[in-house]
Formats: sequence, structure tokens, C-alpha cells
Amino acid sequence: MTYKALTGRLDVSAHRYDEIGLCIYCGTTGSKENRLTLEHVIPSGLGGTLTLPKASCEECNRFTQFCEDRVLHGMLNPIRAALGARGKRRKKKRASAFPIAFEGNNVSEDIPLERYPLSLTMPVFERPGFLVGRKRANDEPMLDKVWTWFAPDAEAQAQRLIQERGVSKLEITHQLHIPEFIKFLAKVAHSFAVAERVKFQPVLTNLIRSPRDAAVKDALHYIGIAEEPAGGFPLYEPGQGGHRLAQMTYSNKNDTSFTFFSVHIQFFRILRSPTYEVIIGSIGATI
Ligand SMILES: [Zn+2]
Repeated sequence: MTYKALTGRLDVSAHRYDEIGLCIYCGTTGSKENRLTLEHVIPSGLGGTLTLPKASCEECNRFTQFCEDRVLHGMLNPIRAALGARGKRRKKKRASAFPIAFEGNNVSEDIPLERYPLSLTMPVFERPGFLVGRKRANDEPMLDKVWTWFAPDAEAQAQRLIQERGVSKLEITHQLHIPEFIKFLAKVAHSFAVAERVKFQPVLTNLIRSPRDAAVKDALHYIGIAEEPAGGFPLYEPGQGGHRLAQMTYSNKNDTSFTFFSVHIQFFRILRSPTYEVIIGSIGATI
């Protein structure tokens, strides 16, 4: 597999921030029934090694975990397997085959990674509404378009499967859990800014803590695609280590009367995947 070579680019060193001592989503200082736990800024299942001790209560963890599971074991599952970016989940529970539907067949068939035409599809949104002065709307369409990357040998793998089965086409279904992905972006950005000790009035905690079936209302006011500067965003490296798979930066913008902060997140820098911009909060004004 040609993309195996990418494995060596994964992060190698961890960075553990100082402990927080209260839940960064709801503010509780914890109790016997609702203890504070270690928070991963980026999940270990994505190669993330930035950790924030005593920073999320168990109750909030259930909200963030649900979205994280959907994203990691849905749309990002094949690419994580190919890149070797796997978390603590026991080996036998990890999927190593992924579904493909062949023409004329209603049921999809699991194809092992070695023979799977690998691709990655991620949602592409508009710029965050706040940044471009877009009118706030609860019913904004979630999905503008998608970005897709194909492994160099994906076409050949697909052709091989087509010939073997004697069909004319096959279909790879990408599960895009958009609302969960948006909440996931919010969680990563918020926890990163807190870890970096940015002082701000948070705007995303209600979204992060919203029930699993709640609509993601108004989220695109704060979350969208980033405008990448020429030459790309600078690579973020906390402490002596660094996170090589994903990169994040935060910026603050002074808008005369107040300052707002945003976090840039690119999960697959090596694949030049979309960079998202997430506004996490402000000082001096409600946004
Ligand atoms: Zn909490």
C-alpha cells in the first residue's frame, strides 16, 4: 500500500498540560458521582497526544464521546486504519475491512483494507457566518460541498474489484455525520484554547453539551472553513513535542472594541485536507 509510508509522520511525543480542576464545558468542580477526567484535545484515535488532566466531568464526557465515536468510527474510520492512527480500543474490536456495494447487490460487502479503494471525504462549509457578516439562521444548510482525497492506488484497487466481481461499477458509501462533526470541531477547538490558557468568554459550550439528537442550531455562525494564508498555516508544536497529523493554531482578532479568538484545525495536514476555523469566544463583547 503506497499510503503506508505516511505512518511514520504521526506524532511521536505527547504534551500534557497542567491540570484544570474544573470541567471546561459545564464548570463543575466534580463530585464522587461525576468525577473530573483526563481530556484529550484531539482523540488518541486520531493520533492526538495533547492531554488536559481533570478537565471534563463524566457527564460532559458522554456528550463529547458520542460525537467523537460517530466521527472516528464513521467517516474517518478507513483513513485512520490506513494511517495507523488508532486509539486505545482493543485490537480485535478494530475494523480492518470496510463496506463496498457492488452493482446489483443491495447488501454491501466488507473489503479488507489491503484491497480497499481508500479515500477520505470531509465536509466543506462556508466561512463562519460571524466572520463574513452573514445573517444568523437556525436552518442554514449544513453541507455546502465535500472535499475528497483518493489514495494513489484507489483507482487500480476499484478496477480490480470490478473485474473480479464481473460488475460494471461499485459504490463506496461515506458516512458523513455532519452535526456530530460540527460538535466535534467545537469540542477540539474549545479544549485546545482552554489548554493553551487563552482567556475568553466561550460561545460553544452549549453546542458541545447539546443532546445527541438536538439540531445543531446556529453553529455555522461560529464554525466554517478557514481562509488559508499563502504558504499554509504555521505548524503548531506545543512544548518540545508536536502533533504531526493534525495541526492547530489559534489567532485573536481585534475588532476595535473587542477581541475574538478562533482556532484553525486541519486533521490531515499530510493530505492537505480542509482547514476549519472555529470561533471559540471573545473578550469585551457578546458575539
Ligand atoms: Zn461538565
